[in-house]
Amino acid sequence: MKMCNPFIKTLTGILSAAFLTLVFSCNNKEELPAPSASEPAVQAPYLIDDLTGEVTLRTDCDGDDIHWEYEGPEGPDHWPMLCDGWACDGKKQSPVNIIPPLHRQLSKSLKFYWKNTATSIVNNGHTIQYNIDQPINPNDGSYISLNGQKYYLLQFHFHAKSEHTVNGEHYPVEIHFVHRNPLDGKLAVVGVFVEEGDANPFFNNILETWPHEEGNYTVSNTYNPNVLMPAGYNNFLDAHFWWYNGSLTTPPCSEIVNWMVWSSNIEASHEQIEEMESILHENYRPTLPLGGSRLVKAQ
Ligand SMILES: [Zn+2]
Repeated sequence: MKMCNPFIKTLTGILSAAFLTLVFSCNNKEELPAPSASEPAVQAPYLIDDLTGEVTLRTDCDGDDIHWEYEGPEGPDHWPMLCDGWACDGKKQSPVNIIPPLHRQLSKSLKFYWKNTATSIVNNGHTIQYNIDQPINPNDGSYISLNGQKYYLLQFHFHAKSEHTVNGEHYPVEIHFVHRNPLDGKLAVVGVFVEEGDANPFFNNILETWPHEEGNYTVSNTYNPNVLMPAGYNNFLDAHFWWYNGSLTTPPCSEIVNWMVWSSNIEASHEQIEEMESILHENYRPTLPLGGSRLVKAQ
Protein backbone atom coordinates (compact mmCIF):
# COMPACT_ATOMS: atom_id res chain seq x y z
CA MET A 1 0.00 0.00 0.00
CA LYS A 2 1.23 3.45 -0.81
CA MET A 3 1.67 5.98 2.01
CA CYS A 4 -0.50 9.07 1.85
CA ASN A 5 2.18 11.65 2.35
CA PRO A 6 1.79 15.27 1.45
CA PHE A 7 5.06 16.69 0.44
CA ILE A 8 5.87 20.20 -0.13
CA LYS A 9 7.82 21.55 -2.95
CA THR A 10 9.02 25.09 -2.70
CA LEU A 11 9.49 26.93 -5.91
CA THR A 12 11.41 30.14 -6.05
CA GLY A 13 11.23 32.08 -9.20
CA ILE A 14 12.78 35.07 -10.65
CA LEU A 15 9.94 37.09 -9.19
CA SER A 16 10.39 38.39 -5.65
CA ALA A 17 7.30 36.56 -4.51
CA ALA A 18 7.70 32.98 -3.49
CA PHE A 19 5.25 30.39 -4.52
CA LEU A 20 4.49 27.38 -2.50
CA THR A 21 3.09 24.50 -4.32
CA LEU A 22 1.61 21.75 -2.30
CA VAL A 23 1.55 18.52 -4.08
CA PHE A 24 -0.48 15.80 -2.49
CA SER A 25 0.03 12.33 -3.68
CA CYS A 26 -2.63 10.11 -2.28
CA ASN A 27 -3.79 6.98 -4.04
CA ASN A 28 -5.30 4.27 -1.91
CA LYS A 29 -7.51 2.71 -4.53
CA GLU A 30 -6.55 -0.60 -6.09
CA GLU A 31 -7.94 -0.58 -9.58
CA LEU A 32 -9.55 -3.87 -10.56
CA PRO A 33 -9.24 -4.80 -14.20
CA ALA A 34 -12.54 -4.48 -16.01
CA PRO A 35 -13.96 -7.81 -17.17
CA SER A 36 -13.12 -8.36 -20.78
CA ALA A 37 -15.90 -9.38 -23.11
CA SER A 38 -13.45 -11.35 -25.22
CA GLU A 39 -12.16 -13.46 -22.31
CA PRO A 40 -15.03 -15.32 -20.63
CA ALA A 41 -14.53 -16.59 -17.10
CA VAL A 42 -13.01 -20.03 -16.83
CA GLN A 43 -15.61 -22.48 -15.62
CA ALA A 44 -15.23 -23.94 -12.13
CA PRO A 45 -13.98 -27.50 -12.55
CA TYR A 46 -16.37 -29.17 -10.14
CA LEU A 47 -19.63 -28.93 -8.26
CA ILE A 48 -19.86 -29.34 -4.48
CA ASP A 49 -23.13 -30.57 -3.00
CA ASP A 50 -24.26 -28.16 -0.25
CA LEU A 51 -25.67 -30.94 1.91
CA THR A 52 -23.30 -33.86 1.50
CA GLY A 53 -20.13 -31.99 0.48
CA GLU A 54 -19.78 -34.46 -2.38
CA VAL A 55 -17.45 -33.18 -5.08
CA THR A 56 -18.26 -33.94 -8.71
CA LEU A 57 -15.95 -33.05 -11.59
CA ARG A 58 -17.97 -31.21 -14.24
CA THR A 59 -17.98 -31.82 -17.96
CA ASP A 60 -20.84 -29.44 -18.79
CA CYS A 61 -20.55 -25.95 -20.30
CA ASP A 62 -22.09 -23.42 -17.90
CA GLY A 63 -24.92 -25.81 -17.17
CA ASP A 64 -25.43 -27.05 -20.73
CA ASP A 65 -24.62 -30.64 -21.54
CA ILE A 66 -21.99 -30.63 -24.25
CA HIS A 67 -21.19 -33.83 -26.06
CA TRP A 68 -17.50 -34.48 -26.57
CA GLU A 69 -15.59 -37.43 -27.93
CA TYR A 70 -12.09 -38.77 -28.42
CA GLU A 71 -12.27 -38.50 -32.22
CA GLY A 72 -14.07 -36.70 -35.02
CA PRO A 73 -15.73 -33.26 -35.01
CA GLU A 74 -16.16 -33.35 -31.20
CA GLY A 75 -12.68 -34.77 -30.63
CA PRO A 76 -9.75 -33.28 -28.68
CA ASP A 77 -8.70 -30.85 -31.43
CA HIS A 78 -12.18 -29.32 -31.27
CA TRP A 79 -12.67 -29.26 -27.48
CA PRO A 80 -11.52 -25.59 -27.23
CA MET A 81 -14.30 -24.57 -29.64
CA LEU A 82 -17.08 -26.48 -27.85
CA CYS A 83 -17.28 -24.16 -24.81
CA ASP A 84 -15.85 -20.70 -24.07
CA GLY A 85 -15.48 -21.51 -20.37
CA TRP A 86 -13.27 -24.56 -20.90
CA ALA A 87 -9.52 -24.22 -20.64
CA CYS A 88 -8.64 -26.81 -23.30
CA ASP A 89 -6.51 -24.38 -25.34
CA GLY A 90 -4.49 -23.26 -22.30
CA LYS A 91 -0.72 -23.27 -22.01
CA LYS A 92 -0.48 -25.87 -19.20
CA GLN A 93 -2.44 -28.75 -20.64
CA SER A 94 -2.17 -32.49 -20.03
CA PRO A 95 -1.19 -35.12 -20.92
CA VAL A 96 2.39 -34.53 -22.05
CA ASN A 97 5.19 -36.66 -23.42
CA ILE A 98 7.62 -37.41 -20.59
CA ILE A 99 11.32 -37.40 -21.37
CA PRO A 100 12.73 -38.84 -18.15
CA PRO A 101 15.24 -36.50 -16.51
CA LEU A 102 18.61 -38.09 -15.77
CA HIS A 103 18.63 -37.14 -12.11
CA ARG A 104 16.12 -37.60 -9.33
CA GLN A 105 15.44 -34.83 -6.86
CA LEU A 106 13.68 -35.64 -3.61
CA SER A 107 11.71 -32.42 -3.69
CA LYS A 108 8.16 -33.57 -2.98
CA SER A 109 7.10 -34.97 0.35
CA LEU A 110 4.41 -37.53 -0.46
CA LYS A 111 2.73 -40.10 1.76
CA PHE A 112 -0.35 -42.21 1.01
CA TYR A 113 -3.09 -42.73 3.60
CA TRP A 114 -5.44 -44.84 1.49
CA LYS A 115 -7.87 -47.13 3.32
CA ASN A 116 -10.30 -49.90 2.65
CA THR A 117 -13.15 -48.13 0.99
CA ALA A 118 -16.56 -48.61 -0.52
CA THR A 119 -17.02 -47.38 -4.07
CA SER A 120 -19.62 -47.04 -6.73
CA ILE A 121 -18.71 -47.75 -10.32
CA VAL A 122 -19.70 -45.50 -13.21
CA ASN A 123 -19.57 -46.00 -16.94
CA ASN A 124 -19.96 -42.34 -17.96
CA GLY A 125 -19.46 -42.95 -21.67
CA HIS A 126 -15.85 -41.72 -21.46
CA THR A 127 -14.28 -44.03 -18.90
CA ILE A 128 -14.88 -46.59 -16.19
CA GLN A 129 -14.68 -44.69 -12.91
CA TYR A 130 -14.72 -45.77 -9.27
CA ASN A 131 -16.17 -43.04 -7.02
CA ILE A 132 -14.92 -43.26 -3.45
CA ASP A 133 -17.59 -43.08 -0.77
CA GLN A 134 -16.76 -39.97 1.26
CA PRO A 135 -17.06 -40.37 5.06
CA ILE A 136 -18.56 -37.57 7.16
CA ASN A 137 -15.14 -36.88 8.64
CA PRO A 138 -12.82 -36.69 5.62
CA ASN A 139 -9.86 -37.86 7.71
CA ASP A 140 -11.59 -41.24 8.10
CA GLY A 141 -11.28 -41.62 4.33
CA SER A 142 -8.41 -41.99 1.90
CA TYR A 143 -6.01 -39.17 1.26
CA ILE A 144 -2.44 -38.32 0.40
CA SER A 145 -0.24 -35.85 2.19
CA LEU A 146 1.65 -33.80 -0.40
CA ASN A 147 4.14 -31.28 0.95
CA GLY A 148 2.18 -31.29 4.21
CA GLN A 149 -1.22 -30.66 2.58
CA LYS A 150 -4.01 -33.21 2.54
CA TYR A 151 -5.56 -34.17 -0.78
CA TYR A 152 -8.60 -36.47 -0.45
CA LEU A 153 -9.16 -39.32 -2.91
CA LEU A 154 -12.32 -38.63 -4.94
CA GLN A 155 -12.21 -41.29 -7.64
CA PHE A 156 -10.01 -43.34 -9.93
CA HIS A 157 -10.55 -44.21 -13.57
CA PHE A 158 -8.91 -45.82 -16.58
CA HIS A 159 -7.60 -44.80 -20.01
CA ALA A 160 -6.57 -47.05 -22.91
CA LYS A 161 -4.05 -46.33 -24.36
CA SER A 162 -2.09 -44.38 -21.75
CA GLU A 163 -2.51 -40.60 -21.96
CA HIS A 164 1.03 -39.71 -20.91
CA THR A 165 3.75 -41.13 -23.09
CA VAL A 166 7.36 -41.87 -22.13
CA ASN A 167 9.89 -41.01 -24.84
CA GLY A 168 6.95 -40.93 -27.24
CA GLU A 169 5.69 -44.44 -26.39
CA HIS A 170 2.23 -45.25 -25.04
CA TYR A 171 1.52 -47.94 -22.48
CA PRO A 172 -1.64 -50.00 -23.05
CA VAL A 173 -3.51 -48.56 -20.03
CA GLU A 174 -3.12 -45.68 -17.55
CA ILE A 175 -4.96 -45.37 -14.23
CA HIS A 176 -5.65 -41.93 -12.70
CA PHE A 177 -6.22 -41.53 -8.96
CA VAL A 178 -7.81 -38.08 -8.48
CA HIS A 179 -7.35 -36.25 -5.16
CA ARG A 180 -8.52 -32.81 -4.11
CA ASN A 181 -7.23 -30.30 -1.58
CA PRO A 182 -10.30 -28.65 -0.03
CA LEU A 183 -8.25 -25.65 1.10
CA ASP A 184 -7.30 -24.36 -2.35
CA GLY A 185 -9.40 -26.57 -4.63
CA LYS A 186 -6.30 -27.88 -6.45
CA LEU A 187 -6.09 -31.49 -7.57
CA ALA A 188 -3.28 -34.03 -7.24
CA VAL A 189 -3.56 -36.88 -9.72
CA VAL A 190 -1.43 -40.01 -9.40
CA GLY A 191 -0.96 -41.75 -12.76
CA VAL A 192 0.06 -45.41 -13.03
CA PHE A 193 0.84 -47.23 -16.27
CA VAL A 194 -0.32 -50.81 -16.85
CA GLU A 195 1.99 -52.90 -19.04
CA GLU A 196 1.47 -56.36 -20.45
CA GLY A 197 2.81 -59.13 -18.24
CA ASP A 198 1.42 -61.38 -15.54
CA ALA A 199 -2.30 -61.50 -14.87
CA ASN A 200 -3.27 -59.07 -12.11
CA PRO A 201 -5.49 -60.81 -9.54
CA PHE A 202 -7.37 -57.60 -8.75
CA PHE A 203 -8.30 -57.13 -12.41
CA ASN A 204 -9.54 -60.73 -12.44
CA ASN A 205 -11.99 -59.77 -9.72
CA ILE A 206 -13.23 -56.50 -11.12
CA LEU A 207 -13.14 -56.85 -14.89
CA GLU A 208 -16.18 -59.08 -15.01
CA THR A 209 -18.10 -56.35 -13.18
CA TRP A 210 -17.05 -53.52 -15.52
CA PRO A 211 -20.31 -52.22 -17.00
CA HIS A 212 -20.51 -52.21 -20.79
CA GLU A 213 -23.52 -49.89 -20.72
CA GLU A 214 -23.51 -46.31 -19.40
CA GLY A 215 -24.82 -45.85 -15.87
CA ASN A 216 -24.07 -45.94 -12.14
CA TYR A 217 -23.64 -49.26 -10.39
CA THR A 218 -22.98 -50.31 -6.83
CA VAL A 219 -20.00 -52.42 -5.84
CA SER A 220 -20.63 -54.87 -3.04
CA ASN A 221 -17.17 -55.40 -1.59
CA THR A 222 -14.78 -52.84 -0.14
CA TYR A 223 -11.07 -52.81 -0.92
CA ASN A 224 -7.98 -50.62 -0.75
CA PRO A 225 -7.15 -49.07 -4.15
CA ASN A 226 -3.46 -49.62 -3.41
CA VAL A 227 -3.86 -53.06 -5.01
CA LEU A 228 -3.42 -51.05 -8.24
CA MET A 229 -0.16 -49.36 -7.17
CA PRO A 230 3.36 -50.61 -7.96
CA ALA A 231 5.37 -52.25 -5.18
CA GLY A 232 7.04 -49.79 -2.80
CA TYR A 233 4.68 -46.98 -3.80
CA ASN A 234 4.48 -45.65 -0.24
CA ASN A 235 8.17 -45.88 0.55
CA PHE A 236 9.74 -42.46 0.18
CA LEU A 237 12.98 -43.73 -1.36
CA ASP A 238 11.42 -46.43 -3.59
CA ALA A 239 8.57 -44.33 -4.93
CA HIS A 240 9.85 -43.08 -8.29
CA PHE A 241 7.61 -40.72 -10.17
CA TRP A 242 7.66 -37.82 -12.59
CA TRP A 243 5.82 -34.67 -11.68
CA TYR A 244 4.76 -31.46 -13.38
CA ASN A 245 1.91 -28.91 -13.32
CA GLY A 246 -0.89 -29.53 -15.78
CA SER A 247 -4.59 -29.91 -16.35
CA LEU A 248 -7.50 -32.27 -16.39
CA THR A 249 -7.21 -34.37 -19.56
CA THR A 250 -10.97 -34.11 -20.18
CA PRO A 251 -13.17 -31.02 -20.54
CA PRO A 252 -13.17 -28.50 -18.90
CA CYS A 253 -9.37 -29.12 -19.00
CA SER A 254 -8.89 -26.97 -15.85
CA GLU A 255 -5.23 -26.16 -15.18
CA ILE A 256 -5.29 -27.09 -11.50
CA VAL A 257 -3.50 -30.45 -11.40
CA ASN A 258 -0.30 -31.53 -9.66
CA TRP A 259 0.56 -34.51 -11.84
CA MET A 260 2.59 -37.39 -10.40
CA VAL A 261 3.13 -40.16 -12.93
CA TRP A 262 4.71 -43.30 -11.57
CA SER A 263 7.84 -44.52 -13.38
CA SER A 264 7.39 -48.14 -12.24
CA ASN A 265 4.35 -49.95 -13.60
CA ILE A 266 1.86 -52.61 -12.72
CA GLU A 267 1.14 -55.58 -14.96
CA ALA A 268 -1.94 -57.13 -16.49
CA SER A 269 -2.23 -60.09 -18.83
CA HIS A 270 -2.82 -59.78 -22.58
CA GLU A 271 -6.40 -60.96 -22.07
CA GLN A 272 -7.05 -58.50 -19.25
CA ILE A 273 -5.72 -55.60 -21.33
CA GLU A 274 -7.85 -56.67 -24.31
CA GLU A 275 -10.90 -56.72 -22.06
CA MET A 276 -10.17 -53.21 -20.78
CA GLU A 277 -9.59 -51.92 -24.32
CA SER A 278 -12.89 -53.37 -25.50
CA ILE A 279 -14.78 -51.26 -22.93
CA LEU A 280 -12.64 -48.09 -22.89
CA HIS A 281 -12.52 -47.60 -26.71
CA GLU A 282 -9.29 -45.57 -27.08
CA ASN A 283 -10.31 -42.96 -24.50
CA TYR A 284 -7.05 -41.02 -24.43
CA ARG A 285 -6.30 -37.39 -25.23
CA PRO A 286 -3.17 -36.99 -27.37
CA THR A 287 -0.18 -35.34 -25.69
CA LEU A 288 0.19 -31.55 -25.71
CA PRO A 289 3.34 -29.40 -25.68
CA LEU A 290 5.09 -28.90 -22.36
CA GLY A 291 5.85 -25.36 -23.53
CA GLY A 292 8.64 -23.14 -22.39
CA SER A 293 7.55 -22.57 -18.81
CA ARG A 294 7.11 -26.15 -17.59
CA LEU A 295 9.50 -28.93 -16.67
CA VAL A 296 8.90 -32.60 -15.88
CA LYS A 297 10.96 -33.46 -12.80
CA ALA A 298 11.92 -36.88 -11.50
CA GLN A 299 11.60 -38.02 -7.93
ZN1 LIG B 1 -7.90 -39.49 -16.49
